[in-house]
Formats: sequence, structure tokens, C-alpha cells
Amino acid sequence: MSADEFEFETSDAGTDTGSTGAKSRQTVLETEDLAVSYGKVQALRGIDVTIREGEIVSLIGPNGAGKTTFANTISGFLEYEGSARYRDREVARVGQKGLVEQGMIHCTEERDLFGYMDVEDNLELGGYLQDDAIIEERKEFVYDLFPRLDERREQNARSMSGGEQQMLAIGRALMGDPDLLILDEPTIGLAPVILKDIAQALDPIQERGVTILLTEQNVTFALKHADRMYLLENGEAVREGTPEELKGDDYIRESYLGG
Ligand code: ATP
Repeated sequence: MSADEFEFETSDAGTDTGSTGAKSRQTVLETEDLAVSYGKVQALRGIDVTIREGEIVSLIGPNGAGKTTFANTISGFLEYEGSARYRDREVARVGQKGLVEQGMIHCTEERDLFGYMDVEDNLELGGYLQDDAIIEERKEFVYDLFPRLDERREQNARSMSGGEQQMLAIGRALMGDPDLLILDEPTIGLAPVILKDIAQALDPIQERGVTILLTEQNVTFALKHADRMYLLENGEAVREGTPEELKGDDYIRESYLGG
């Protein structure tokens, strides 16, 4: 059974923050006519994306569509044209360090764990600069969210399975108390049973007041968990809407959902 065929438990993520309710909420991130190039390769062009407080917004698209480039750009890693504003301030002016300090926490596709450090130490590093009491409270939240991490507190990150490492990477990002959590392809290469663990963590994270940008190749996963979605192809946003709207789109059904 492939990940796309796997039936997740239905999330109600889309019901209260659908396009109507979300419109009254404050904008967390907004890009306008965003364009990014790597030399002669134009990876993004004309991207207008809005993410409002409390939403899970997913960028979907195939390999090379520009999802990671978008995540890296709004995190301040790449130069861009057009505009990208986080909490009304231009990303390029705020810079990487300032963005992290203001709560934009990026869980990268590579996970970037400290392999020779154990689960507990990786988590504590994610919360450095915080008071001990806050670190303890957040660790307990992460261990409740991912009991597999709780059972492996003293295990080195490099010896864990890919799914467990992904949970640890998300957990470490949560230790930084994100306002906007960027999850870049969290499901890539993971078995369906682990996808379920990741999926079940999204609602409690959202309920904690965290806004989420989820980049995904797994369209089925994104459809089940996002409030709104953008489809990127060849660096352009070719569709935008709620999961219900996109599920009803012939092109999406034929190209991404097997007809
Ligand atoms: P994937 O799901 O495979 O990670 P993606 O949607 O995240 O794909 P990007 O990684 O953003 O896509 O890549 C978008 C385009 O930019 C691709 O054509 C890719 O080859 C190109 N690209 C990405 N990173 C670089 C780089 N550092 N130097 C040159 N070109 C790059």
C-alpha cells in the first residue's frame, strides 16, 4: 500500500478555519509577486501566498515545483524579488536570526538533527535561551505528542528510524515556541503507520495556537490536514483553494488523485 492510498483518520482541521472564518484573522505571512532564481534557473515566479493566524496552509506540488525554495525564501535564506512579509515586516530586512526570534521556526526537509546527541538533548537545544520551567513544559508537550520519543529519551538521534527522526525534528522545532511553524515535506519517505503519527500531531499543534506552513508532495495527506492549499508547478502557483475546492477540480483529480 502506498502512502497515497492510506486512509488517515479524518481531521476536522478544515472546518473552523476555512476560507471564510480565516479571512478575519491577522495575516502571519504574505508574499506578493515573489520570484526567486538560482542563476539562470527561475525557481519561483509571481507567487502570491497568504497565511493567516491559526491556519494550516499547504504548498503542494511535484519534485522541483519550488516548495523548498519557497520555504527557504520566507525563512530568509535566499534572495528574492517581489515581497515577502512576516508579521508585516519584510523578510529580507528582518533576516534569519530576527525571524527565528520572532517565532518563525523552520523544520527543514533534511531534519538537521544532532546525530550523536540523544532525544532529550536535541529537544533541549531547540529550546535554548528559555527558562528551565518552560523547557520542561514544552518537552512534556512533545513527549505527549510523540510517545515514541518519550520511550527513546536517551537514544542517539542517528540510531532512530526515519519516522522517529522526523518526529524529533518536529519536536525540536516546537521547543522554540513557534508562531509560524514551517514543515518542509515532513512525510517524505515515511511508512503509512508513521504518517498517521505525524498527522495526529497536527491538530494539537494547531490548537496550541501555532500557524503551520506544510509543504507536501503527498497531496492526499495535505488535502486531509490543510485549511487552504496552493498547487505549485514549475515555480508558479497554478491552483489555490480549500481542500474541498481542490478535490472538486478536474485537473487536480486527474493529475494528483488518480482520476
Ligand atoms: P522537491 O520536492 O524535490 O524537494 P521542490 O518543490 O521543493 O522539490 P525546489 O527544491 O524548491 O523544489 O526546486 C525548485 C527548482 O529550483 C528546481 O528546478 C531545482 O533544480 C532548482 N534548485 C533548487 N535548489 C537549487 C540550488 N541550490 N541551485 C540551483 N538550482 C536549484
